[in-house]
This record gives sequence, structure tokens and C-alpha cells, in this order.
Amino acid sequence: MSGRTCARACPERTCVGCRERAAKAELLRIVAIKDACVPDPRGTLPGRGAYVHPAPVCLDQAVRRRAFPRALRVPGPLDTKALRRYVEQTTVAEQATR
Ligand SMILES: [Zn+2]
Repeated sequence: MSGRTCARACPERTCVGCRERAAKAELLRIVAIKDACVPDPRGTLPGRGAYVHPAPVCLDQAVRRRAFPRALRVPGPLDTKALRRYVEQTTVAEQATR
């Protein structure tokens, strides 16, 4: 509770992929459901969340360093297939609007 007076006004989270801090709104919230990583773009799912940029690069880094099980406090490896599909779709959609 010290030196974080800004935390409430401008929430920041650390991307578990590239470890950079970013506004919460720029990151995708991930929760673990059973043994899978599930994207939670609206931030409505209960439980512990991990945050990652919705970008394949950051996802790859997070998977490689096993950041999801660590951030979500689960013991086992997590299935990231659904998450990867989601991120790839989001990336493609973003590129299409450019
Ligand atoms: Zn990132």
C-alpha cells in the first residue's frame, strides 16, 4: 500500500509474456479453467487472472517460460490452444481494420 497512489486511477498490469507494464485495458485477461487457459476479454470470469498482450509473440513467450501456471497458481501445465486461437483471431481482425 505504499507508493501506489495511482493504482486505482489508472490500473496497470504486467504482461506475463514480455513483462512490460501496460494499461489493464490493453491486456487480455486469462483465467485457468480446469487445465486450460481461457481468454476473458470482458474480465467477468471468477478466479485469479493473468494478463498478456493479445499478441502471438507475447503468448509464445508466456508459454515458453511457463508463465501461466505460475501467474495463475496452478500446479500443472495449461492447455493454451483455445487461447492461441483467440489471440490469432484477434490479431487477424486487428490487421484487417488497418
Ligand atoms: Zn506483452
